[in-house]
Amino acid sequence: MRSVDEHQRAVAGLIARREPVAVAIADALGLALAEDVVAPLSLPGFDNSAMDGYAVVAEDISGACDQQPVMLPVAEDIPAGRTDPLTLKPGTAHRIMTGAPLPSGATAVVPVELTDGATDTVAIRATATAGAHIRRAGEDVEAGTTVLRAGQVVTPAVLGLVAALGLDELKVVPRQRVVVMSTGSELVAPGTPLKPGQIYESNAVMLAAAAKDAGAQVTTAPMSSDDVDEFRAVLARHAGEADLIITTGGVSAGAYEVVKDALWAAGVEFVKVAMQPGMPQGAGRIGDTPIITLPGNPVSALVSFEVFIRAPLREAMGLPQAQRPLLTAELEEDLKSPRGKRQFRRGVLDADKRAVSSYGPPASHHLRWLASANCLLEIDEDVVELTAGSPVRVWDLSSG
Ligand code: AMP
Ligand code: MG
Repeated sequence: MRSVDEHQRAVAGLIARREPVAVAIADALGLALAEDVVAPLSLPGFDNSAMDGYAVVAEDISGACDQQPVMLPVAEDIPAGRTDPLTLKPGTAHRIMTGAPLPSGATAVVPVELTDGATDTVAIRATATAGAHIRRAGEDVEAGTTVLRAGQVVTPAVLGLVAALGLDELKVVPRQRVVVMSTGSELVAPGTPLKPGQIYESNAVMLAAAAKDAGAQVTTAPMSSDDVDEFRAVLARHAGEADLIITTGGVSAGAYEVVKDALWAAGVEFVKVAMQPGMPQGAGRIGDTPIITLPGNPVSALVSFEVFIRAPLREAMGLPQAQRPLLTAELEEDLKSPRGKRQFRRGVLDADKRAVSSYGPPASHHLRWLASANCLLEIDEDVVELTAGSPVRVWDLSSG
């Protein structure tokens, strides 16, 4: 049997980073920058007013106060967006709005609240120091400065900055294109009637969501029956558009193991991994495209995704916290674990993440507990018993 660590390495070795691409900024959210971003211009790009008010020469209003306002003729009106160059003559004022370009010669802006707001001759009731309420060109960003580093993940604020700098594209590490395919002649799509012996397909939507949640771009292929030719046909239609194919079902020890039957001759490796759940696994390539074949039991499928695929998938996209946060918590009950297998039990971590209890039975078909668990308890191969109060390793599924 292959160890969990060995199979993790085998899977990680298959998943590769794509070449950087330039994407429209609106499509870049959540992706890692592939290169530094150097500011092509300064922010602000020109001296401008930080307030609605009046541009003045500060000396002209020295001594202004409530009792003795200084009266200045208003020579210009400068709304934001005015583009013609203006010069303020000493002894005059320009009415100016927030973000409007400061006329040359002006040395301060007096907020409208300290004036009578007039448009012909304004009464100014307070003094101003030179530079007051002026936003200087380049005080935020100077042209030529490196403002973002390669590897940084694009957030809404990053987008705000790059748009302000006039950039409409960013060079990013592209999302991995993942194709999810489920197999099983017993499977029927939710929303259609069931015949006896049939069940609703539940792995594809779950794994597609898990891959998407990990940052990938996901296509769900039509499910295949356990017919090898049908499986091969679906695979052939979708392999070309994927960086990674994930299948479920058809890899264990029974008859009609469609994935195994279709792929072992093509060199995909089918192995038993010393873990519970998720023992039957496969990994390899179809042409150049990596394929990871997960077991069909829903709990096995999702736990396998967590244990083998999520971290390398995120790493290949340059995303931080590729690995779920691992913590040690105090077990609240006695637990048994099979000898020789690494066990991943579903669990519930308490709010302060100090204590943990297992949640539901260890079997691999119990979706109900999986749905409301917030962590996995990882119990080592050589541990057969854990007593209440002992420390246990926990994968925190609620973050990362
Ligand atoms: P298999 O790995 O194909 O032998 O399937 C193991 C178990 O998981 C069987 O009980 C299947 O019916 C079930 N199963 C396999 N694939 C799916 C799926 N996509 N959705 C729900 N159950 C599945
Ligand atoms: Mg099956």
